[in-house]
Amino acid sequence: YSPVNFYLNFFGTYYRMIQQNFVDMEKMLDLFKEQQSVQDVPGAPDLKVTEGAVVFDNVSFSYDPRHPALKNISFAIPKGKTVALVGPSGGGKSTILRLLFRFYDVGSGRVLIDGQDIKLVKQESLRRNVGVVPQDTVLFNDTILYNIHYGNINAPEDDVYKAAKAAQIHDRILTFPDGYKTRVGERGLRLSGGEKQRVAIARTILKDPAIILLDEATSALDTTTERQIQHALASVTKDRTTLVIAHRLSTIVNADMILCIKDGEVAEQGTHDELLKNTEGNKCMWHKQLRDETENKDKIAEEIEV
Ligand code: ATP
Repeated sequence: YSPVNFYLNFFGTYYRMIQQNFVDMEKMLDLFKEQQSVQDVPGAPDLKVTEGAVVFDNVSFSYDPRHPALKNISFAIPKGKTVALVGPSGGGKSTILRLLFRFYDVGSGRVLIDGQDIKLVKQESLRRNVGVVPQDTVLFNDTILYNIHYGNINAPEDDVYKAAKAAQIHDRILTFPDGYKTRVGERGLRLSGGEKQRVAIARTILKDPAIILLDEATSALDTTTERQIQHALASVTKDRTTLVIAHRLSTIVNADMILCIKDGEVAEQGTHDELLKNTEGNKCMWHKQLRDETENKDKIAEEIEV
């Protein structure tokens, strides 16, 4: 086994690992700023996803022992349901998603998928079953076709077009100079934020995971793009267990459950109606925040109809 072979293998594996993780978690996890800390236990079995039900059982976690980021978080998401995570900046929403992707192991408690502790299964099998749609998707310097196909490189090309249609990006791609063969990314055609998010959605539809982690865009989008994104999101989240860091009122209103995460704890929990009725339930002020952010009341009414 020559040293040259060793280095080629090493860099090959390393490159694939980075590329895979990069697509999976992308900027949402600031992968390149943080060390990957989790290790599989020897002989760990694959995660067996039957339904995609998610449970956080008394989970605590800290990046820095002096400041716990999550304290005794418990909630359960049944198969196919959507949970909207809301709450103030720094409350712990992204940390919940990172733990579910097992970017870190919990400090105490358990994260379960279909009854299996994710700490005890192979990371690779977990990540195969969890799709991530970040706010800001990094595209490869390659064709738009490849960028979507990457979600499942073994899928037939026809499925790529179907995914692009479901993600409301197909018609836009047909207007590109070389259609699906158009090069995108830093050295190709630059896509807008809304277009990039729809590419990420198409990729995830092709990957077809049981669980979706979604970081909704905060940026203001024009009404058409907003509508396209809402339809694309509806396709990707349908029948899949979804955790969404929600910034849009429509997403919150339509969620099966809202979890307000504040100071690392679940400050409020319930449906939109339940939370609105709960007059004391103002701990999070999330609806006020949203109202203040959304200047145009007509737009809210329109969003709710979607
Ligand atoms: P935002 O809405 O601003 O994205 P959030 O609710 O997603 O916030 P988290 O990013 O989960 O909040 O952060 C929870 C806490 O953990 C914060 O106090 C934050 O400063 C801290 N934190 C987050 N990431 C790290 C990290 N990589 N290292 C150290 N501390 C971190």
